[in-house]
Amino acid sequence: MKLYHLSSGPLRVNTYFLVNEQTKQAVVIDGGENYKKVKQVEEQLGIKIEYLLLTHSHFDHAGNAKKLQDDGAKVYVSAVDENKLRGDGNLSCRFGRKFDELTADGTFTDGEKLNLAGITFEVIATPGHTDGSVCFLVGDMLFTGDTLFLGSVGRTDFPTGNRADLINSVKKLFALEGDYTVYPGHEEFTTLSHERKYNVFADYD
Ligand SMILES: [Zn+2]
Repeated sequence: MKLYHLSSGPLRVNTYFLVNEQTKQAVVIDGGENYKKVKQVEEQLGIKIEYLLLTHSHFDHAGNAKKLQDDGAKVYVSAVDENKLRGDGNLSCRFGRKFDELTADGTFTDGEKLNLAGITFEVIATPGHTDGSVCFLVGDMLFTGDTLFLGSVGRTDFPTGNRADLINSVKKLFALEGDYTVYPGHEEFTTLSHERKYNVFADYD
């Protein structure tokens, strides 16, 4: 498996391409808003996006999901955030962004293991930024969406956000055994050991 990264859109969302090098099948985590750039990466790498996993349904992460779905990608999101792919829950109206509404092809819940394109994804429910936000564990990589960032955590002032839940979710991540490279939904990569030490939320108990 090989990992590729793209940062795009006005909110600089991180899109991750996990590629099975034998089959050239790709699983994308958070497609972002920019459809063209994602398709460019797909073309340049000679891969086929078979699955799109969403850490949550906000427009900046899920904005191109419908277009990728129309191209044949199966879209998966948490059962709790699925309804935000339609209506106000994805915040596109609030931010004045266009959002092509869709229905997910599948949903997942906490602790579920998904085997997609020969890659195993473990779902960790991490409510707080939205009530249906999740992180994905893949080998020694942890994809954290808008739950955990380098030195900080996600906002909790949007609908279904909850600060107490977010603190519990970050604690849940910190309690994972061992170390992981952390790939957040925006900004720089980090490691779990670094965040356990230096993240402002490490001091919450
Ligand atoms: Zn968000």
